[in-house]
Amino acid sequence: MAPLTAVKKLFHFDSPQERYQADACVISCYDARFDLVTRKFLKRRGIVTFDHVKIAGGAKSLAAPECAADRDFALRMVRTSMGLHGARLVMLVAHNECGAYGGAPAETIVADASRAASFLLSQEPALSVECYFADFDGVYRIA
Ligand SMILES: [Zn+2]
Repeated sequence: MAPLTAVKKLFHFDSPQERYQADACVISCYDARFDLVTRKFLKRRGIVTFDHVKIAGGAKSLAAPECAADRDFALRMVRTSMGLHGARLVMLVAHNECGAYGGAPAETIVADASRAASFLLSQEPALSVECYFADFDGVYRIA
């Protein structure tokens, strides 16, 4: 990078410069307790390169948004991933005890993930959408 006067390098690291094809666009909550299991699960599923949309409540923004703008934002992120990185698969990873649900039972969170998948498919029928539920003992597939 050409030197910029307003920035000062603090850390050196060589990041890949090539454009990439995303194996998936992953939407999850930013709850850090489920970071490691989500990454390990994706790796196990063969998802190596992915666009990760991390927002409080994850798929809740698509299923039961607090305001319409939240749903628009989440959908726009998926469409951007499709456009920039060719994502054809969206993986929704919900999790237990999600703070965005304020103590709602797991059934509510799971139902929202399914609702989010239906909404995504109604907006982008060419997508494949998979839903998962991360619990404290592993990851479950939502039918
Ligand atoms: Zn959460």
